Amino acid sequence: MKNKLMRHYCMNKTCGYEETNHKRRDAMKCPKCKGPVMSVDPKKKDFDENK
Ligand SMILES: [Zn+2]
Repeated sequence: MKNKLMRHYCMNKTCGYEETNHKRRDAMKCPKCKGPVMSVDPKKKDFDENK
């Protein structure tokens, strides 16, 4: 059985923390700035990335 690969990134754009792994955590905090982290399915391209 496979866990879903999730992409986690910090909502603080000046921080730049980003990680892709199989861990799914709710209310995950950024290890760098302790800010909120967004988790998205990397297969879905519905997130905005500095466009
Ligand atoms: Zn951060």
